[in-house]
Amino acid sequence: MRYAAKTDIGRLRNLNEDSYLVDGDIFAVADGMGGHRAGEVASSLALNVFKAAFEKPRPDESDDDIKSRLKEAVARANQAVFERSRSARELAGMGTTLTAAVPADGKVHIVHVGDSRALLIRKGKMTPVTSDHTLVGEMLLRREVTSETARIHPLRHILTRALGTERDIRSDQTILEVQTGDRLLLCTDGLYASVENRDIAKAVGGKDLESACGKLVDLANLGGGEDNVTVILVEF
Ligand code: MG
Repeated sequence: MRYAAKTDIGRLRNLNEDSYLVDGDIFAVADGMGGHRAGEVASSLALNVFKAAFEKPRPDESDDDIKSRLKEAVARANQAVFERSRSARELAGMGTTLTAAVPADGKVHIVHVGDSRALLIRKGKMTPVTSDHTLVGEMLLRREVTSETARIHPLRHILTRALGTERDIRSDQTILEVQTGDRLLLCTDGLYASVENRDIAKAVGGKDLESACGKLVDLANLGGGEDNVTVILVEF
C-alpha cells in the first residue's frame, strides 16, 4: 500500500479549517465549519478523538466487529465536538464532516458523515463510494436533480448531517473489496466544487501519488480556490 496527502488553504480563505489523518492504518479527511476558528477546532478535535478511539483491526477480526468499533469511534468524536461546542460561546454550533477509510484484510471500511467524499478508482474508472449529506445530495439520490444540476445548485452547500452539531450521530458505512492497483481518493468539497469529475479522474491516475495530490490541489486553485482543499490518495 502506498499513499500521499495534501491540504491547501485555497485562494480566498484566511484559515484552513480542513484536517486530515494518514497513519497507514486510518485515512481520514474532516472539513470543519463554524465562525471564527471554530471549524478548525471541530475538524482537528474530531480526528484526534476518532484516532484515539479506534484501534487498528486485528487480523482475525470480523467485518461486523470492525464496523461497530468504527461506529463507536465516530460517536465518540461526535460527542467530543458537541460537548466542546457548548463549552465556549465562540464555538457554539461548530461541526465537521468526517470521511474515513480503514484497510483490513483485502477490504476497506469506509465511515462517512457530511459532504466530503470517498471515490474508488479502478482501471481508470472513478466511482463514488459515499453520497453527500446535503439537501442537494439527497435530491440526487431521489433523482430530483441530475449530477450536472447538483454541482451548481444554490443549495449544494447545505449539510443535512454533520459531526458535532447534535448529541447523536448517524454515520454511513460501506465495505469495499479492493483489488491490487485500486486507488481510493478521499477529498473535501473544496476539490469537487471547483474541479470537474473527469479532470479529477485524469489527475488521480498519475503514476506518482505525491504529484497526483499536488495536481488535484493545483486544479482546485486554478478553478477559483474558493475553499480549503484536502486530498488523500491511497493505492492498494
Ligand atoms: Mg470545504
